Amino acid sequence: MEPKKKLINSVDSCVDEALCGLVRASGSLSLLKGHRVLLRSDLDQLRGKVGLVSGGGSGHEPAHGGFIGAGMLSAAVAGGVFASPPPASILAAILCLHDAGASGVLLIVKNYTGDRLNFGLAAEQARNHGVAVDMVIVAEDCAFDRPSKAGRRGLCGTVFIHKLAGALAEEGCSLDQIVSKVTEVLKGIGTLGVSLSPCSVPGCLPSFDLPPGDMELGLGIHGEPGIKRSKVASADEVVKMMIDHMTNPDSQSHLPLKPGDSVVVCVNNLGALSCLEIAVVTRAAIVCLEGGGVVVSRVMAGSFMTSLEMAGVSLTLMKADQETLRLFDAETSAPSWPNLSRTCVSGRSYLTEPQTASTRPQDATHSEGPLSPVLRSVLLRVCSTLLQQQDELNALDRAAGDGDCGNTHAQAAKAVQDWLKDHGVPGCPGQLLSVLAALLQEKMGGSSGALYSLFLTAAAGHVTEGRSNAAAWAAAVHAGTQAMRRYGGAEPGDRTMLDALCPAAEELMKLTAAPPGGHMDVLQAAVQKASSGAESTRDLTARAGRASYIAAERLTLPDPGAVAVAAILRAVLESLQGQE
Ligand code: ADP
Ligand code: MG
Repeated sequence: MEPKKKLINSVDSCVDEALCGLVRASGSLSLLKGHRVLLRSDLDQLRGKVGLVSGGGSGHEPAHGGFIGAGMLSAAVAGGVFASPPPASILAAILCLHDAGASGVLLIVKNYTGDRLNFGLAAEQARNHGVAVDMVIVAEDCAFDRPSKAGRRGLCGTVFIHKLAGALAEEGCSLDQIVSKVTEVLKGIGTLGVSLSPCSVPGCLPSFDLPPGDMELGLGIHGEPGIKRSKVASADEVVKMMIDHMTNPDSQSHLPLKPGDSVVVCVNNLGALSCLEIAVVTRAAIVCLEGGGVVVSRVMAGSFMTSLEMAGVSLTLMKADQETLRLFDAETSAPSWPNLSRTCVSGRSYLTEPQTASTRPQDATHSEGPLSPVLRSVLLRVCSTLLQQQDELNALDRAAGDGDCGNTHAQAAKAVQDWLKDHGVPGCPGQLLSVLAALLQEKMGGSSGALYSLFLTAAAGHVTEGRSNAAAWAAAVHAGTQAMRRYGGAEPGDRTMLDALCPAAEELMKLTAAPPGGHMDVLQAAVQKASSGAESTRDLTARAGRASYIAAERLTLPDPGAVAVAAILRAVLESLQGQE
């Protein structure tokens, strides 16, 4: 088995190049020469305030470098991938902050033996240099019912501590004040992770095997396996299982949570879940917590403490009183801290009622007029023609598309017939066209449904009760055709229905100048143009619609959409001739 593909230059250089990428892009970070230490570039702002240092193995990006900024960390120390950083670099970071005038330095350390030792050693050395240093250990993992001597692991809850300690330091609180506040808050933080796949350290095989249908609960963030394997369940079920486990009082590492408590929630992508999945999990977490009577004050969702490309998510819950919320909400310039609103998630009305209730034109009652009987018989004629042609149009579409063009037109015809059964035809032709547009949009389907709907919608405004003479109809057909061209992106000659429609529409423009009594001749000529236009599509190369994916020499039959247009126009003509 090969190590997993990674987009890096080399296993040896990837950590340093990643740090460099972050610093170069940020504009507000700098690298301490000779060390894997990232610093605020405006260190002078630290004078008289407590400086905050965190860090640990790489592979958890954006932790910790992404959380450097005013109101959060002052420096972050990176080790190799999943490896604790050397004490010399931690000490160098501490001394840098001290030299910049920091009144003291707080180390925020995740509970892993390596990190405890290395950060502890650096703290002792810094004290010998006369620096006021203190250390808080974050250990908020809820996975183990009976944690071992090593204690609970430090996970994504660390980011909350960065934020709260950062806000306090920015306000000018002393080292002792900060330590005592975050120590208090830490008791009310819990985290649990679940994963659908392991991750792999660059150059290495995956950290553990997970069969395709399985998921694992309670993982660490260094690729170490979790506590329980089960079949992958739905997001709602998984979230419920996680929250139940985290708050189960039988576990020594549970988070005591009761109805009425307020929490801040962090939904943390462990690396490779899609943003869509994270959003689904976020909704599930809010619904589940609210279902248990918990007040969800804030939610942050995204990638904060990852585990390389692990396809999983962790949930962190932090009990939050007003003071904790105030610190959580305080401003920070750290690039990876989300830009959240300061409103309580629970209880906020998040649905907007539409102001204008959209009325369906096909449901409205329209008043009939002198034109109504004519329009009704024209429509019925068009519908029966399309139903007769269903098989022929399908056959033409089978040769050039997906074989449903007859069906889409038949569906349209049936929808219109059904509507005519229990509705009067509006006397205003524009209203009728709007009704037809709405019916076809809903019932016709295919490209033709959208195209006809566009045609009818654009045409509707040109024929009104007061203005429905021949010239108005010509303008309506012209406007409809133009809309089809604009939104469909096709032109005459592209082997579409436009090859029948455009020549007919052009011919119909002659209605504007036709003498009274000459209208039927113009219509007859337009029908002729549509028929020959449809016939001409046999020899055209398709440049729009599905047919454009088929080799030109295989298209020997006419375009079904064009044939349908010619048939519709002929039906209109014949119906009007019959009524003369
Ligand atoms: P679909 O292609 O979605 O299956 P139909 O089978 O109902 O839709 O309709 C196919 C017809 O639509 C084609 O024969 C062609 O005349 C027409 N058509 C496809 N794309 C366009 C377009 N961009 N402009 C105008 N007409 C088009
Ligand atoms: Mg089709």
